[in-house]
Amino acid sequence: ACGTMTSGGTESLLLAVKMARDHARKKKPWIRRPNIVLPRSAHPAFDKAGEYFGVALKHAALDDEMRVDMKSLKKLVDRNTVMVVASAPQYPHGVMDPIEQVGAFAQKKKLLFHVDACVGGMVLPFLEKLGQPVPAWDFRVPGVTTISADLHKYGYTAKGASVIMHRN
Ligand SMILES: *Cc1c(COP(=O)(O)O)cnc(C)c1O
Repeated sequence: ACGTMTSGGTESLLLAVKMARDHARKKKPWIRRPNIVLPRSAHPAFDKAGEYFGVALKHAALDDEMRVDMKSLKKLVDRNTVMVVASAPQYPHGVMDPIEQVGAFAQKKKLLFHVDACVGGMVLPFLEKLGQPVPAWDFRVPGVTTISADLHKYGYTAKGASVIMHRN
């Protein structure tokens, strides 16, 4: 993996969306009105990114446990979709989206897949190290192409510090 530092989770998500848009411009030039499919619970920085970079956002419903509903997510993906998003965990309820299921779907559809681990990125690896059961959420999951992780949350750095990581 490789990546860059940013000024915060918001900038990491802005860059993920801009990258998906620019990637599609190169690889799928027939897409005129790109969209991203993301859970209703995803961070509002994605909405800012959509406004800034001209990408439509399609919000998928949540299930009873506040995880993204796979049926809803799959139904929203169309020929103009350039990326899918899930959170590990999402901010409003601290719930992990089904990363492995979204990854399998993204791979099948040849879509970019961003995992927003802004709040989880500096917690989950250490929970795992302590022997706690942690569902797979990082580049070990096939299909995950980018991950955001904030250093200025549980990395305990000064504000603002975050990273956006790419699989390659
Ligand atoms: C905090 C957070 C963000 C935004 O990060 P800022 O550093 O506040 O800009 C995005 N997504 C998740 C899941 C977060 O917890």
